[in-house]
Amino acid sequence: MLRFLPSLPRCLAMFGSVLVAMSLTSCASFDSQPPRPRWAIAIHGGAGVPADLANPEDYSSAIERALQLGQSILADGGTSLDAVTAALVLLEDDPHFNAGLGAVLTSEGACELDASIMDGETLNCGAVASVTTVKNPILLARAVMTASKHVFLAGGGAEQFAREQGFSPVENDYFKTEHRRKSLERVKEEEQRAKSAQSAVDLCEPVYLGTVGAVALDQDGHLAAATSTGGLTNKRYGRVGDSPIIGAGTFAADTSCAVSCTGQGELYIRHGISHALSALVEHAGLSLEAAGARLIHQVLPEDSGGLIAIDRHGNITMPFNTVGMHRGCADANGRFEVLIYKEPIINATVSP
Ligand code: ASP
Repeated sequence: MLRFLPSLPRCLAMFGSVLVAMSLTSCASFDSQPPRPRWAIAIHGGAGVPADLANPEDYSSAIERALQLGQSILADGGTSLDAVTAALVLLEDDPHFNAGLGAVLTSEGACELDASIMDGETLNCGAVASVTTVKNPILLARAVMTASKHVFLAGGGAEQFAREQGFSPVENDYFKTEHRRKSLERVKEEEQRAKSAQSAVDLCEPVYLGTVGAVALDQDGHLAAATSTGGLTNKRYGRVGDSPIIGAGTFAADTSCAVSCTGQGELYIRHGISHALSALVEHAGLSLEAAGARLIHQVLPEDSGGLIAIDRHGNITMPFNTVGMHRGCADANGRFEVLIYKEPIINATVSP
């Protein structure tokens, strides 16, 4: 029986050739595909950018700063939850975006803010809607996720929870900017004109400028997503859009991807867009890019919005069907892009 066993030198030679073959195979795949990034982040600052946007660099430099902040957290081994939270706090504090300071105004001239966050590792999530005195709604959404038994708090209850959690209130006037006051005036004038002409009345401005969102993959392989908005100009009756609704505007699961949407919220709610994207990736086996393209270009109508998403391999997609979408992404392989329209504003790739 022993004579059928190969001799030790023969064994070593066989083992050696298997190792050579394995390393040749892995070299071949390494050459043809970049290695998976250890971390990745994408950020949006809203779909519906008009072709004649004034001062586009103001928006792009804010997206760039938010990306840099998120990437420094991820590169240092921080969590995807911390990266998306920090990026959104920065954008909520920037008056150019429709979230926190600079949020759009309701028909009554107030700011009512919505936000949500989701942890892809645990599927824990937190959301708030129609808050009026919380400076950074994304921080309150995170507190709902970590410090309450619930996932979604709205209006007065959300405000009460904020006080109990030690959030200092700000006046609603803190959020209001001249730019947004003028937008409301313009929309109301258009509404009045449409009424006098007895044509269909569109209660909301047809551009959805400046909602903010972030998605990230951290070095432990965990995904997170977050979205924050003031909703739509001239919104009425306590209207809430998709941004604070898990599965519509925001979703994250480590088994598939992290998603943040922007656009006409009613459509994103009807189609459950962020969860649909995750399901297409996880259950139908579509690539992240194919799933995003299907939803944005086949399911949703033209000029309705966009989304950003990262999958568990660090792939990024940022499709939109509007003229432009403020957006940017970065990863551990040196990718760093900031874009508004189809062409990059900043497109840098450096060695990892
Ligand atoms: N999706 C947001 C909403 O409907 C608006 C936006 O993304 O600009 O409230």
